[in-house]
Amino acid sequence: MKIICIGRNYVDHIRELNNAIPTSPVFFLKPDSALLIRNRPFYYPSFSDAIHYEVELVLKICKVGKNIQKRFAHTYFDEIGIGLDMTARDLQDSAKQKGLPWAIAKGFDQSAPIGTFLSKENFVDLKNINFHLDLNGNTVQQGNSSLMIYGFDEIIEYISRFMTLRTGDYIFTGTPAGVGPVMVGDKLEAYIGEEKLLSCQIK
Ligand code: MG
Repeated sequence: MKIICIGRNYVDHIRELNNAIPTSPVFFLKPDSALLIRNRPFYYPSFSDAIHYEVELVLKICKVGKNIQKRFAHTYFDEIGIGLDMTARDLQDSAKQKGLPWAIAKGFDQSAPIGTFLSKENFVDLKNINFHLDLNGNTVQQGNSSLMIYGFDEIIEYISRFMTLRTGDYIFTGTPAGVGPVMVGDKLEAYIGEEKLLSCQIK
């Protein structure tokens, strides 16, 4: 199982980090050891002083595919959930400055908390999915799938040109504006619509 994450997929988030709007999808990987499941606590790592949350819609891949055409892409995922792309922003900024990979900034242990997944059939319109993140009860990020630069189908088409998708893979589809730091004692709660699907205590 692998975790593929799309970066820079919402214009408002690209602007808040002063990045350029990409001309093709940007993606990176997290190892399977990054997964954090069943609402287990996130333990603040000693190697960073700037752990940030990024709430994202997550697709769960349901069959093997390579060179998937956009018009068939929707048949390769059957569940949608919500996850946090936990990021060591200080390590990422340093890597960006030096032109180095983001692996440790994005792929450290517990950097991919995921919540309960919903069957795709639960959604009336995949291009209109509201989601949000609360930090200690206050909403800090709000997104809608209609605002993605690259939609689910385009993402799957693009990734599968380079990497075979396999059953059980996860795709994080990018974060909207409002990313920010967490501190020990914080509680993160992520929702699709009004349904809370993920809760994560920072310890
Ligand atoms: Mg992200």
